[in-house]
Amino acid sequence: MMIDHIGIAVDALDDAVKLYRRILKISKEEFAVSQDEKVKTALLWFDNGMLELLEPAGREGAVADFIKKRGPGIHHIAVSVDNLDDSLRKASENGFAVVPPGARRGIRGNRVAFIHPRSLKGVLLELCETTTQK
Ligand code: ZN
Repeated sequence: MMIDHIGIAVDALDDAVKLYRRILKISKEEFAVSQDEKVKTALLWFDNGMLELLEPAGREGAVADFIKKRGPGIHHIAVSVDNLDDSLRKASENGFAVVPPGARRGIRGNRVAFIHPRSLKGVLLELCETTTQK
């Protein structure tokens, strides 16, 4: 298990990308829009890690709500897991809240799931399945 990426809520994606370009050595950039999650994203890759910048695509959605409540900043931490189903089973057996229940497709097409911050002392944790194609 290792850190896959850190998700950062931003109010203006282009401005945030320009800011990070000024201080970080970015090896690859990818941009995408997720209608399901109601976000525009920029994935900023480094030699060994990635930042996922998230701008709300509209007034609704989890990231829009996050910014309304807390302002821009670190939104979630994502770890890679070998087997998402095993990880979700373990999480529910131990009483962790998965939101929404079960796995879904992440921005990169891989299967992901989120553990609610109320289960983890205020941290939203994303589980990213990176090794299998289902
Ligand atoms: Zn993420």
